Amino acid sequence: MNILQRKLAYNPLLSKRSLADINLIVIHCTELPDLNHAREFGEKVLYDSGTGNSGHFYIDRDGHIEQWVSLERVAHHVQGHNQNSIGIELVNTGRYPNWYHSDHQNLTESYPDKQISALIKLIKHLTNRLPNLKHIVGHDDLDQRMVPAENNQAVSVSRKIDPGPLFPWQTVMQNTHLINIGSHAQNYGKRRNDKPKK
Ligand SMILES: [Zn+2]
Repeated sequence: MNILQRKLAYNPLLSKRSLADINLIVIHCTELPDLNHAREFGEKVLYDSGTGNSGHFYIDRDGHIEQWVSLERVAHHVQGHNQNSIGIELVNTGRYPNWYHSDHQNLTESYPDKQISALIKLIKHLTNRLPNLKHIVGHDDLDQRMVPAENNQAVSVSRKIDPGPLFPWQTVMQNTHLINIGSHAQNYGKRRNDKPKK
């Protein structure tokens, strides 16, 4: 598994956890134009602890994978679910740069095959290594809060929309034994209590 190690400077300042705590993968997209923009965003210190917001892994459009946070560190990537999860970020423009503009809520960039096959390989690598890793979900399912649109306070837009409707859940779910606990679960005949298909 080819993963470039490029830990964030504040990685050692993030809370420690046991690998046995990890039971969930959260899929994100960066909603930024490229990996460099994502890195700048990830490096920003936002908390008194000297840390900021980032995923554990980043996958570029060409399938290149980088790890920015250790598995035994809690990254800040999803409100309320950081302690037990791994954040995987896919480089994708999303709504950039008008995230909260009411006329700019449709995602148009699809996820290239190379990026998705790298994601599937990474998921397999992680499930082999982490015995309690069982579930997967999109960020959009874990954070359904709405915010006022930047151009019209009377209109609400989704705070988080990633990975969004263009993310190929079907392909990903067909290639993993993880169970989808989000709203997409019903599409795959695999539920929380089902045995994964071979
Ligand atoms: Zn996200």
